[in-house]
Amino acid sequence: MTRPLILVTNDDGVLAEGLRVLVEAVADLGEVVVCAPDTERSGASQAITLHSYLRANHIREGWWAVNGTPVDCVYLGVIHLCGRRPDLVLAGVNPGYNLGTDVFYSGTVGAAAEGFLRGASGIAFSTPVGQPPQIATPTIRTLVRKVLAEPERCLLNVNLPEVVPAVCEGAERLAAAEIVRRSEGLPMAVTRLGRRAYQEFVERRTDLRGKPYFWIGGPPEQSVELHGEDTWAVANGMVAVTPLVLDITAPDLEPWRQRLAGVTSRLESDDDR
Ligand code: MN
Repeated sequence: MTRPLILVTNDDGVLAEGLRVLVEAVADLGEVVVCAPDTERSGASQAITLHSYLRANHIREGWWAVNGTPVDCVYLGVIHLCGRRPDLVLAGVNPGYNLGTDVFYSGTVGAAAEGFLRGASGIAFSTPVGQPPQIATPTIRTLVRKVLAEPERCLLNVNLPEVVPAVCEGAERLAAAEIVRRSEGLPMAVTRLGRRAYQEFVERRTDLRGKPYFWIGGPPEQSVELHGEDTWAVANGMVAVTPLVLDITAPDLEPWRQRLAGVTSRLESDDDR
């Protein structure tokens, strides 16, 4: 039997520790190809490069660095570099949550979603800021085994809770093996996307030539966590596993037909859904 093919990528760049940890976690679970952005592309969402060329540098056996977005990496990897279609596309391990509405901005989730659009299963892995990526290792192995054994494809957004005391400057770092050991058997819950509010923030600065430039995006705000949401699960020490679908159509169209009745036509098919 052919070994499953696993394409691994991230949005933090090919040198990120989280990428190495993700690759190591699945090294014995299939044939692994890495295709990741050459620089950090966090927040790249589902962006694809259509107006300039891409280069793929073969940096070592099975590893490619691409001067593009996470989606560029997956597209190029799946269709061209891998040689055959991957069964699974993994993205991460991202050093920072991708919860709730973060999924609209996240390059990590964007890459996993692109894997799903290209015919593979996709899983995005994220951890809280300041946690070593090794906290995700046991969860990665459990979920990858499970997904590879399933006949039906899926797209999962996975967020880990805090497992070890946050790494602070000068603090003694736990050995990787000890971090993995402490992360065994974390409870996992199937969740829905929660709400994650951020402070709205624009900082205007002036460059050396007197022209204004801006930094946008504020820190997360305390938001309400409801039972069953991803934000609630991680706050309560559980791994949040949120299955995603890519159809963001409003679930019930009838109220919309009524609201827009004056300007839209009713289709024959509307009544026999
Ligand atoms: Mn990132």
